[in-house]
Formats: sequence, structure tokens, C-alpha cells
Amino acid sequence: MTDTTALLDFVCVSADEGRPIPDAATREVIGYAPVHTLADLEERIAGARAAQPAWQALGHSERSRILNAIADEIEANSEELAHLLSREQGKPLDGPNARFEVGACAVWTRSAADTVLEPELIFESGASRSILHYESLGVVGAIGPWNWPMMISVWQIAPSLRMGNSVVVKPSGFTPLSVLALVEVFNRHLPDGVLAAVTGDREIGSAMAAHPEFDKIMFTGSTATGRKIVESSAHNLARLTLELGGNDPGIVLPDTDISGLAENLFWGCFINTGQTCAALKRLYVHDSVYDEVVDSLARIAESMPMGRGTDPGMVLGPLQNQAQFDVVERLVEDARSRGARIVTGGEAATDLGPLFYRPTVVADIQDGAALVDEEQFGPAIPVIRYTEIDDAIWRANASEQGLGASVWSNDVDKALAVAQRLQAGTVWINQHGTLNPSVPFGGTKSSGYGQEFGVQGLKAVATPKVITI
Ligand code: NAD
Repeated sequence: MTDTTALLDFVCVSADEGRPIPDAATREVIGYAPVHTLADLEERIAGARAAQPAWQALGHSERSRILNAIADEIEANSEELAHLLSREQGKPLDGPNARFEVGACAVWTRSAADTVLEPELIFESGASRSILHYESLGVVGAIGPWNWPMMISVWQIAPSLRMGNSVVVKPSGFTPLSVLALVEVFNRHLPDGVLAAVTGDREIGSAMAAHPEFDKIMFTGSTATGRKIVESSAHNLARLTLELGGNDPGIVLPDTDISGLAENLFWGCFINTGQTCAALKRLYVHDSVYDEVVDSLARIAESMPMGRGTDPGMVLGPLQNQAQFDVVERLVEDARSRGARIVTGGEAATDLGPLFYRPTVVADIQDGAALVDEEQFGPAIPVIRYTEIDDAIWRANASEQGLGASVWSNDVDKALAVAQRLQAGTVWINQHGTLNPSVPFGGTKSSGYGQEFGVQGLKAVATPKVITI
């Protein structure tokens, strides 16, 4: 196994000073995370504020050079980072999991470095013209979740740094070590204070959201926490980007060649063992292909190796924490008690470890069941039968959430017509949840507001300023 001792030595503290962080699969203690206080938060914010003007003054090309050097550094340390992530988060090294996540950290850092945001000429008439510039905001607070902890932190940190802001990042209390390690790698190339991490959970997060020194809060997490952050922003007027929960629908149209799309459908639902914001969380399938979709998903689910992430060849892992395991178990049991058909899975995989839950396909289930209406954030997909497309679209849109959606068909024009009627920040056709660092990503409705990635993402961590001549 790749040796993560050096990284762990750097980010961990001694047992009597820290909080034990378990391996998600085995529950053995990996190391002890520092327990930061509100005073530590104040110190980091002051450091970030002091370091920001010089960082801004470096200019775009120097900041881009440094971010590219950081991307190289991530790549050079990718195995150590992936092993630590795999143990702490639970996701396997292989498949679209830990190595993929660390690779994405380098790709998104490079994209933030290389994306160009030019001033925009908005108006010109005779000798008069108005130009829109994008300037640094100041200090950005980044608060992240536990499901893709490194990658989502990079989405928040890299564009912020590129635009000349300093950043204080707070990882989820479930996955602090991965993010501390990532920050350590970034800091090999950054001036002191420009990027700092603070560990903690609700208390530190809410102190950050309310703090008058933050000019912007980038938040990714649940809708419930997002609402609290909006309340805090009434006082400090911090700008917000909110990437919140999702309950993404997929609609499979009639006459679709299921065999060619089944694997994409499976990964749309089960990427990161279902613990993904923009994963397929409810699948509406036309009656004519319903049985084929259900059977294909079940067959693929049964063939996918699930186990400890650092064991070679695994592609599905455990739930990251007990609370999330309990959510998945409750939703599947509720479905069972309503008479839904558990086609495969539907039980804990206790032979693998305490938090493993077998990939589960639930058929003959309707809207109104908690597994359809609530975000499961785990390896259990409800498949709902429909006959009329208007009805499927209505049900897909009936959710409060609006992060992603997808349409599946061999006829792209028909799929496009449905896509235009779905309420979501992104609608994919014949895929789900695939992201591109140049293509804006964000939610609508209760899934949040603001967009990340590409030019839109840079604008979101800048302040617009018009100069009229
Ligand atoms: P969470 O809201 O419980 O926690 C997210 C972060 O907020 C953590 O760092 C936590 O410590 C912090 N926090 C908790 N209470 C806070 C408060 N009062 N003020 C400020 N910060 C506080 O979410 P989670 O369980 O870590 O993540 C899962 C959720 O995140 C799911 O709903 C998922 O859909 C969503 N998510 C969304 C995206 C997206 O891009 N839209 C991506 C990943 C996850």
C-alpha cells in the first residue's frame, strides 16, 4: 500500500490533542484531526486579510503560474492523496472514485489558472464608453461537504485564488484530513496566509458564515445548512455561492436502446456509491422499457465489486458515516413497507464492514414514497414507471430541488424537447453528472444559487466594477 505516513504526520496531531478520524471502511483510527477553536478561526481570518493585498498585487499571470505549479504538485503527490482520501472518505481508489477525484483536483486547478476573464466593453457611443472589470473580492470563506471533499474544496479555492482573493477553508468534520492534506500541498507554492484551513463543524461553520471579514462564502452542503448561511448573510452581506442538495430525476423515453446506455445509467445513480450531489436519485422509465431498465441496473449492480477502498479492483465502497447509512436504510425500509419491489440489494453488507450497504434497485414504487421524495445520498435507486411523458415531466419537476436532471433516448431531438421543460441547473442527455471545468455548474430552486467553473466561476469570486469614460 502507498505510504501516507508523511502526509498524515503533517496534518494530524497527537491523540490527546485531537479528534479521532476513522477509516470509513474498517472504523480503525487513521489519525487525529486538530480541533480548532473560534480563536484559531480569528487568527486565520486575520492572516488571510493581511496576505490578500500582496497576493492581489501579483497579478493574473503570476497567480496562474503558481496555480499551475500547484496542479503539478497535486499530480506528483496523487497516490498519497488518493490513499488518504480513500481511507477517510471510503471511496475506492479505482473506478470514478479516489484517483479520479485527485486527478480532478489537478484538472480544475489548471482550469482556474488558464481561464481568461477579460474586461467587457458594455457600451460605446462617440467618445463615451463603459467597461466592466472584475476585481478581487478580498477574503473568501469556503465551507465543504464530506462526499467529494478534496475536489469540491478545489472548486471553491482555485478560482478564488486565481481572482486574487485569499481563502479560509473549512472541511466537513467527517473528512478533515483529506482537505488539510490538500491545503498542505497548495501551501508548498503559496505565500503565507493566502490559504488557511480551519477544522470544526457547525460552530466554526456558522461563525464563518456570520463573520464580517468574509467578503464571500462559497458553500457546498445540505439545503438546510444553506438556508442558515443565507440568514447570516443578511448581516455581513457576504456574497454567496450555494451548491446545495439535489434529488435529480432522470427520464428514460420509449424506444431507447437500453443495452447501450445501461452502464451510463448505473454510474449516473451509483457514482461514489450514490453519495454525490448531482447523481440520479429517481428514475422515471417508460412502461415499454421499464423491465429492461430495472433488470439491467440490477444485473450491473450485482456485478460491481464493493469493498474496502484501498483493495485493488473495488469500485463501490461504504457509506461515509453512520448518519448517512441510517438515512439509506430508513428510506429503503419505508419503500419495502409500502410494497415496493426490492430487485437487488436492500440490506446492509455486514460481511464487508459496518457501513456497507448493497447497491439497491427498487421497482414498483411511486412518488410519495420517501425514497423518491427525499435525497437518499446513497446506493439505492427508485425506478418509477410512467406512460405519459407530460406526467413524467410534471413529477420530475414536482421536487423542491433543481440541481441536475437527465433525459435518455436514442432520439436526441425528442430528448432535447424534454430537457427544455425540466427545471434544473444542468440537464444531461444520455449521461448524468458528468462535469467539465469550463462548463458552468450550479443549481436552481432549493438546490442553491450561483455557478461554479469556467468564466462564470471566476466572475462569482470577483466583484464587478464599471469604469465609464
Ligand atoms: P452539511 O450541510 O451537513 O455540511 C456541509 C458543511 O457545512 C460542513 O462543513 C459542515 O460542518 C458545515 N456546517 C454545518 N452546519 C453549519 C452552519 N450552521 N453554518 C455553516 N456551516 C455549517 O452537508 P453534508 O452532509 O456535509 O453534505 C451532504 C449534502 O451536500 C447533500 O445534501 C448533498 O446533495 C450536498 N452537496 C451538494 C453539492 C453541490 O454541488 N450542489 C455537492 C456536494 C454535496
